[in-house]
Amino acid sequence: MKKIISQSIMIWFFPIILIGGLFNPVLGYLVFLMMIFFLVLSYFKGRFWCGFLCPRGAFLDLFLSKFSLKRNVPKFFCNPKIRMSIFFIFMGFFVLQIIISPKNINAIGFVFVRMCIITTILAILLGIPMQQRTWCLICPMSRLQEKIRSLNRS
Ligand code: SF4
Repeated sequence: MKKIISQSIMIWFFPIILIGGLFNPVLGYLVFLMMIFFLVLSYFKGRFWCGFLCPRGAFLDLFLSKFSLKRNVPKFFCNPKIRMSIFFIFMGFFVLQIIISPKNINAIGFVFVRMCIITTILAILLGIPMQQRTWCLICPMSRLQEKIRSLNRS
């Protein structure tokens, strides 16, 4: 599959979830479905999702790259302990939101939309002064995919 083709298609999920989700939080469940898909996929194909299919990855490559200063990324972004800490902070924050949210379809859907908005703001703030994909170095979902992939190797 050609990366430019897959990303040109998948990038449309980005506004659908981030903007559409503000008006119809049920769209947040698309994130949940994508998570199930890429977690299963990662067992066989590692981070194929990140390279070819992730809507945010497509947004960073096709759009934010035009504004990125593409400066070197500080080494601590690759530090496994930093990455693991960020993973636990975000997953903890996510689980907490699920626990305290009213238990209805819209409220739970909006948890996914909100997480997408927060992580996208961070991705933009990191991607403009440094490389456009700086967020991907610390993205909790990339960590999860790497872990699942390692199960297939062991
Ligand atoms: S690291 Fe995260 S944001 Fe980047 S492409 Fe992978 S899943 Fe998407």
